[in-house]
Formats: sequence, C-alpha cells, structure tokens
Amino acid sequence: MSVCDLAPGYIRAIAPYQPGKPTSELARELGLDEAGIIKLASNENPLGVSPKAAAAMRAQLDDLARYPDGNGFELKQALSRRFNIGLDGVVLGNGSNDVLELAARAFLAPGLTAVYAQHAFAVYPLAVQAVGAQGIVVPARKFGHDLAAMAAAVRPDTRIVFVANPNNPTGTFVTGAELEKFIAALPSDVLLVLDEAYTEYLRPDFRYDSIAWLKQYPNLVITRTFSKVYGLAGLRVGYALAAPEVADLMNRVRQPFNVNSLSLTAAAAALDDEDFLRESYELNCRGMDQIVAGLGKLGLVHIPSSGNFVTFAVPQAGAVFQKLLRQGVIVRPIAGYGMPEHLRVSVGLGSENARFLEVLKQALG
Ligand SMILES: *Cc1c(COP(=O)(O)O)cnc(C)c1O
Repeated sequence: MSVCDLAPGYIRAIAPYQPGKPTSELARELGLDEAGIIKLASNENPLGVSPKAAAAMRAQLDDLARYPDGNGFELKQALSRRFNIGLDGVVLGNGSNDVLELAARAFLAPGLTAVYAQHAFAVYPLAVQAVGAQGIVVPARKFGHDLAAMAAAVRPDTRIVFVANPNNPTGTFVTGAELEKFIAALPSDVLLVLDEAYTEYLRPDFRYDSIAWLKQYPNLVITRTFSKVYGLAGLRVGYALAAPEVADLMNRVRQPFNVNSLSLTAAAAALDDEDFLRESYELNCRGMDQIVAGLGKLGLVHIPSSGNFVTFAVPQAGAVFQKLLRQGVIVRPIAGYGMPEHLRVSVGLGSENARFLEVLKQALG
C-alpha cells in the first residue's frame, strides 16, 4: 500500500481544475509563433495591465527582498475608502480563488455540506472537496442559478451557499432584488458566498449594492478579484468583504503572506485607475456586441452574458475547439462544466474578436 492510497478518499476523488491553454503551450505544441496566438480562454482583460498599476510595481521592485505586509494595510485601506467598510471586514487573497478556499477551510469540514448550482464555477466543488465536505449541486434554470431551488436544497448540515453573479461559464445574471430576497430568507447560520468576479462589467441598470447588505446580513461574504477588469490575473490578487467575525476566521486559516508585495501595490493602484476601468468596460461592451452579432450571423445560439465572455452552442464543440487551436485561436471548452455542446469565448480586442469569428466561420464551413 503506497502513501497515495492512504490519502483521504475525498482528496483522491478530486478532478483537477482545467485552466485555459496558455499561449506558450499552444506555440510549443503546434510550432506556431506565440506572438500570433490569440487567447480568448480565461476572461482576462485584453488591454493588459493598468498603467497606474504598472508604474506602482516598477517603484516596488527594489523592495522585493523584504516580506510583504502580511496585513496588506495599504490595499485594505484603499478598499475600505472605496467601499466605505472597516479594515476588519476585508480578507485579501492570492486571487479570489484563495478567498473562496479560505471560506471553505474556515466553515466546512467532513460531515458538512455546501450548495452550488449546476454549471457553477469549478473552484467551488474543488474547495469543498479539499476539506472533505460534500457539495450539493442544484440543477440550473436556463443555465443560470435557480435561487428558489437552491434555498430549498439547504440542509441542517449546510454551512455555505456559493452564488456567482454573473456566473462563469454561463454569463447568467440574477438581479440584486432576487439576491437580496435570497439572503434575507437564508438561515443565519448559513453563509452566502457571493462571487462577484465580473461585477464591474454589469450594465448600469443591472448594478446593485451588495456591500450595503453586509451591515444587515453577517452571513454574507462578497468576493471580488483584480484578475478581470483590473487586468492583473497574472499577479493573483482578490479579496472578500464580510462581517468582522467572519473575516477574522477566514484570516486565521490564511497563509501569513498569501499576497505578495507586487500584487498588493499593483492592486491598490489599479483600484483607483478610473480611466482604465472605464476604457475596459467600454471595450467590453463593443466587443460583446461584435461577438454576439457575429455568432448570430453564423446561426449560433449564445447564452446572454453579463460578463466579459460569452458561451455559445455549437455542433461538435470539441472538434471546433481543436480547429480554432490550429488557427492559433484559444477558446474554452466547457465539457467539464457539464456543457459539452458549448464553447466559451472571452471578449478580446476588436481585431481579436474579428479573427475569432473568421476562424470560427471557417471551422464551421
Ligand atoms: C475568474 C473568476 C474568479 C477569479 O479568480 P481569481 O482567483 O481571482 O483569478 C472568481 N470567480 C469566478 C466565477 C471567476 O470566473
């Protein structure tokens, strides 16, 4: 019997996360020029890093021999000012993936359950399984969250409900009013982990103020990230906003230096780069229109998306994905999310979206 056989069954049962294919890997595999490859697979910001964040990082380079500020004071202060919340209600993470795991580690254990939706973000089942808890998967409604069914799925042993709004990979959105009704009805001993990785991309009439709910609902945890509209996916930095007691427990299971100093500095600078955020938002609106119109012309049905990506149904999705790869365009197959007939494409620059639509047309022809 090997040591691996003795690892807990719930660890051995974990299916590894399948990330979007890196451009360097595709270049190696197919002998393509990496510079010509278009990656629309991980919902990154096609504009790159905010200029303010880049400048802040350059200024930080000489200090890298020192450990980062384990409390992330400056970034917390920037978030606190921005959202009008106390420093003690912030948890910083190595990506919001990290804070999702901190919530699972702090509140779940073998014998407990977490509720999430079919087609929900892949990190939820991973985080739940890694601590030996059990996931309860609630069937989706029109690919989105069925909040009534999720409320009904909560059991006495449930400690967390995960909701991504908008959801990835489907792009579906539930309104602020529906969400508030949901949290108001949730038992107070169950956390709602509300994953708002794409909230900055919401159109104005869809926006809602979840942070205002924190005062009333101490069982609410809001997670956000610098990986998407802020353009810092490679740095890995995200955060949770929660009641101080909840944040305290999450901080106890955190690595002392889980966010590195470049990330702390860059995130604080990016948070206030209003020009970059506006430009990124507007580029996404135009790109979304462009892609949606192009998919329509090709006769493909898409799921209306509130994020910076769109998921569409396409016959032989796996083969189409491979054909796009050979043309140097990387999109995301989502069979692992129970959607083998769909592909997800991130909104890129106008030229990248055009190239994607062109090679997609060829692949279908
Ligand atoms: C991209 C994404 C995140 C962010 O992950 P990071 O670890 O912050 O890069 C979180 N939730 C969802 C639903 C996402 O799609």
